[in-house]
Amino acid sequence: MVPMTLTFLGTGTSMGVPVAGGFGRETPSTDPRDQRWRTSAWVRTAHTSVVIDAGPEFRLQTLRAGIRRIDALLITHEHTDHVGGLDDLRPFNYTQRAPIPVLCHPRTEAHIRRRFDYMFEPDKTPGSVDMAFMPVGPTRIGDLEIRPVPVIHGNLDILGFRINDLGYVTDASELDDEAIGLLAGCDTLVLNGLRWEPEHPTHFTIPQAVEVARSIGARRTWLVHMSTPVRHADTDRRLPEGIRLAYDQLTVSVGGPSASP
Ligand SMILES: [Zn+2]
Ligand SMILES: [Zn+2]
Repeated sequence: MVPMTLTFLGTGTSMGVPVAGGFGRETPSTDPRDQRWRTSAWVRTAHTSVVIDAGPEFRLQTLRAGIRRIDALLITHEHTDHVGGLDDLRPFNYTQRAPIPVLCHPRTEAHIRRRFDYMFEPDKTPGSVDMAFMPVGPTRIGDLEIRPVPVIHGNLDILGFRINDLGYVTDASELDDEAIGLLAGCDTLVLNGLRWEPEHPTHFTIPQAVEVARSIGARRTWLVHMSTPVRHADTDRRLPEGIRLAYDQLTVSVGGPSASP
């Protein structure tokens, strides 16, 4: 398989970590790994650059990671922590001089068309955000084979993605047999784990994520979309071999001869 690099642009839950106002009771952690922007990722090979989700920190995330080109944007679903930064695709339109291909669920496309209606008006201002929605199904972007994976997020059907040897699932509360089958055999898996307890109607807890990760059996699983009480150092120590908490700006290799860490 083509060597691929995954950078975690953000690993936090919907309000980010720490939350604005701190709920007045959180003691902020001084560990930089406990500063989590909204969950997003950058997947790239020598030839192809794909971003998954564009939440409220999208602009900052692209600057921090040094993203210069986006060959496609994959959107898991329409919650604000995953689409709130779509306006900041604009500079990529400027430099690439083309619409950005976008892969998402048809309901998510309808939501984006409604919410960001000014981007789709026939007489919109020149230089506005320009997205080109792709048909939902397996597709190839450069040297990346991308397959949508159906994910259950409470009462919402959303998408995960299989990208070559990478499985990417966020905001899941359940994965059915079809999803497990599409993720089987992946080298690296990204999976959401909100908190240790209690259970949540729309997100895996960390123990649930560990159970799912074991059933998929990737070489390495990285947990994302964590809430404030999840402290990196304590939590990482409690996780079994092969399953670790991701943190913002962590970059890992996927597949290829020198997969690490
Ligand atoms: Zn989310
Ligand atoms: Zn969500």
